[in-house]
Amino acid sequence: MDNCIFCMILEGKIPSSKVYEDEICIAMLDINPATAGHTLILPKKHVQDLTEMDEELGGKLLMVAKKIGLLQKEKLGAAGFNVVQNNGAAAGQTVPHFHIHVIPRYEGGPELAAWRPTEPDKEELNVVLKKLTE
Ligand code: 5GP
Ligand code: ZN
Repeated sequence: MDNCIFCMILEGKIPSSKVYEDEICIAMLDINPATAGHTLILPKKHVQDLTEMDEELGGKLLMVAKKIGLLQKEKLGAAGFNVVQNNGAAAGQTVPHFHIHVIPRYEGGPELAAWRPTEPDKEELNVVLKKLTE
């Protein structure tokens, strides 16, 4: 797709640090990593976000995330890893070409921003549940 920075990377027009490649995707190092080894997995097909993803491709990409996480543990000494995937600008998606972040976590490594838990009462939870299920 024109004007898509990740499509340009996939076409080789912009250089990238490729960690892994197969027929459906590449995995490359993030240029602004949260931790050392932070990797992005992008499908070769331009898919904007999860709402446009089909089951087969999505399933395969998740298994590539597993492969990359295992690699980070084995080769980088990560103690764990986060799999993060943002959909839409409101959710923090800055590049509108689907991608999965695999972020290695190290013992004593930096805290990463997370949500602040809230404490709704049962009634408030039920309002949401009703909206989602009726
Ligand atoms: P998002 O915020 O859309 O979930 O994540 C986009 C990610 O892409 C960011 O973590 C950002 O650092 C990374 N990124 C943006 N442009 C480039 C680029 O040209 N090359 C690489 N390797 N990563 C990029
Ligand atoms: Zn694209």
